[in-house]
Amino acid sequence: MNARLLHSPMAQFPVIDGCLSVGGIPLTQLAARVGQTPFYAYDRRLLDERVALLRRTLPSAIELHYAIKANPMPAVVQHMAGLVDGLDIASLGELKVALDTGMDPGRISFAGPGKRPPELAAAIAAGITLNLESFNETETVARLSQEQRRPARVAVRVNPDFELKTAGMKMGGGPKPFGVDAEQVPTLLRRISELNLDFQGFHIFSGSQNLRAAAIVEAQERTFELALRLAADAPGPVRLLNIGGGFGIPYFPGDTPLDLEPIAANLERWLPRVKDKLPQARIILELGRYLVGEAGIYVAEVVDRKISRGQTFLITNGGLHHHLAASGNFGQVVRKNYPVAVGNRMDQMERETVTVVGPLCTPLDILADRMELPKAEVGDLVVVFQSGAYGLSASPTGFLSHPPCAEVMV
Ligand SMILES: *Cc1c(COP(=O)(O)O)cnc(C)c1O
Repeated sequence: MNARLLHSPMAQFPVIDGCLSVGGIPLTQLAARVGQTPFYAYDRRLLDERVALLRRTLPSAIELHYAIKANPMPAVVQHMAGLVDGLDIASLGELKVALDTGMDPGRISFAGPGKRPPELAAAIAAGITLNLESFNETETVARLSQEQRRPARVAVRVNPDFELKTAGMKMGGGPKPFGVDAEQVPTLLRRISELNLDFQGFHIFSGSQNLRAAAIVEAQERTFELALRLAADAPGPVRLLNIGGGFGIPYFPGDTPLDLEPIAANLERWLPRVKDKLPQARIILELGRYLVGEAGIYVAEVVDRKISRGQTFLITNGGLHHHLAASGNFGQVVRKNYPVAVGNRMDQMERETVTVVGPLCTPLDILADRMELPKAEVGDLVVVFQSGAYGLSASPTGFLSHPPCAEVMV
């Protein structure tokens, strides 16, 4: 059988004497070390392995950027900064985290609609690249550049004239708040030239969480075609071509891991043509979820168990206030269970079908709905896998005023 199909998210975290481990530390010991539950744990060795996999599979000319919003924990970002070629940020808060790592500002870029003047001014002062998302933003950047007597480094974020097929979240094509419509880009490029901004290139991001290599290949082809077309109107050489990412990870039964080979082959095919037409361009793949998502788990403790009309419930001290995505309320249309385990009973044969919920007074606070798990008791540790991306920072931590969640890097 194909090794890809045998992939299980749990296999990344070895079991030692019946207990799941992270970075060689059994979960019960790690919980004691953290000093509390719930917590998120991220495994730095898995981050290393994921970047190494991309480096050995993709053409070496492809640069890798980490999109911080997937997991902005400073220790994670610091570690990623040592592995990738650049960081992508989407706010002033993320700018601080990125700069604190020591990453060269020339390798940090800032995308996102609605950047406010203080954010833009900070970005210009830092010398990072601003991905322009509108005509108004361009004028503001020019005014702030004049005030600082420093031409801002800018790239144009393009809202492409195509969509990434089967993406979990579409972020390009059709009317969108992100980027400038491809057909308006030549006009914006003229304005960038008039305003004497330091033009760097293009950013074309079309979507997220895609597990189909064929769809990513097609999006990349159309991205290269579009970039080559737009480059004809560029006010200077294209130094940066960010072709987005969209690489997904498997969450649910039936999901298979993304096959990188066809993507690598397609990039290999396109690179000579792109290098020929845009000889100065660094070609950048920006990834968030794919880099960090599988390297993290969420751990909550069972605080009660009860049976209601024949259904067994495990109630934990963690829930949607820390892990909105696992509850199914972060962009899912139909709720499905993330992979879940009882971390301190990995070898136990006695199993039961349970619903794992959090302590919040809302029926939305579900971590696992009618799942077969080892029979668990109060004090056991429920683990949610595939939790390294869009976890804590994507959750409504203030909702119901429960204690904060911890995060550790192991
Ligand atoms: C969110 C985002 C990313 C990261 O997306 P992932 O699905 O986590 O890889 C990359 N680029 C931009 C512009 C984004 O907004």
